[in-house]
Amino acid sequence: MQLYNTLSAKEREQLIEEAGKERLTISFYKYAHIKNTQIFRNHLFIHWNELDVLGRIYIAHEGINAQLSVPAESFGVFKAHLDSISFLENVRLNIAIEQDNKSFLKLKVKVRDKIVADGLNDETFDVTDKGIHVDATRFNKLIEDPDTVLVDMRNHYESEIGHFKNAITPDVDTFRDSLDIIEADLADNKEDKKLVMYCTGGIRCEKASAYYKHKGFKNVYQLEGGIIEYTRQVKAEQLENKFMGKNFVFDHRRSERISNDVIANCHQCGKPCDTHVNCANEACHLLFIQCADCAEVMNDCCSDSCKEINALPFEEQKRLRKGKHASNKIFKKGRSEVLKFKK
Ligand SMILES: [Zn+2]
Ligand SMILES: [Zn+2]
Repeated sequence: MQLYNTLSAKEREQLIEEAGKERLTISFYKYAHIKNTQIFRNHLFIHWNELDVLGRIYIAHEGINAQLSVPAESFGVFKAHLDSISFLENVRLNIAIEQDNKSFLKLKVKVRDKIVADGLNDETFDVTDKGIHVDATRFNKLIEDPDTVLVDMRNHYESEIGHFKNAITPDVDTFRDSLDIIEADLADNKEDKKLVMYCTGGIRCEKASAYYKHKGFKNVYQLEGGIIEYTRQVKAEQLENKFMGKNFVFDHRRSERISNDVIANCHQCGKPCDTHVNCANEACHLLFIQCADCAEVMNDCCSDSCKEINALPFEEQKRLRKGKHASNKIFKKGRSEVLKFKK
C-alpha cells in the first residue's frame, strides 16, 4: 500500500504537462474533533492518491485544513468521498478563480498539532462558538453601516496588495499579534460596535471570531469563505465589488487579481506595483514587492549584497551558506532594512 509520494516534483510536473488535463484548485477547512489523526491521514491519502489529487493538507485533533488540486474529471468522485465523512458532509469548497494546472506538484498529508499555526494556546474558549457567518451580499451591506468596524485578519504583506475599502489593516507579522492589537483598539466598543472580520479563505476568522466573543465582543461577524468566496459570489451574482487590488494566496501563484487597483508600491523604487517576489539569493529568499525595472537592475535580488552573492558560482554560494543558518531561520516576509520603501 502506498502511503507517501513516490514521484519527485519535477517528474510530477512533467506528468501533469503530458496529461494536459484540466485541474481545479480547491481549498477547504473544518474545525472538528478528530481522535486518531494518523488513521484519518492515511485514509485520506489512500483515496486521494488514487484520484490523482495533489496538494497540502494539515490534520490535527482540532480539524482539517486542505489546499488541493483535483483533476476536473474526478471532482464528482472526490466530492462524494468527502460527503461520506460525517463532519465533512457538505463542507464548503473554495474553488480558485484562476484555474492553474500546477498549483501543487505533490500530495502531502501531514499530521500537526494545529491546522493553522495561529500561536494561540488559550484553551479556555470554545472554538466552535464562532461569529455570525455572512455572505457577500450581507457583507456589502454590513460594511456600509456606520456602527461597523471592519477588520482585516491577515498579515501586513497580504493586506498591503489588496484589502476591502475602509478596513483596518493591522501592521502585523502574525495572526497572534493582530488579535491583541485589535482587541486593544476596540476595547471601549465591545458592546456597541459591530465587529466584522475577513481573511483569505475564512479559516482565521473561524478562530478569531470565537476568540473575540470569548473576550466580550457582543456583535461578531465574519465573511464566510473569506475573500475567495466573496469574489466568487460577486462574479456569479454580479454584486458590487468592494475589494481593491489583489488577494494574496499561499501557493506558487502568490496572488489573484480581484480589481484593477494597484494599491502597493515597489519596495525598492516606490512606484506603484503589487507583484510579490522572493529574493533570488537562496540564502535570503526575502518576500518583497519588486517592479520589473528594479528586478532587471537588481538581478531579482533584494539588496546589493544579495546581488553579489547570487552572482557567485553555485558551489561558492553553498560554501558561504555553510554553518550560517541565521538568515534563513526566520521565514522573512515583506520587511527588511535594505528595502527603502518597506522597513
Ligand atoms: Zn521598482
Ligand atoms: Zn536578499
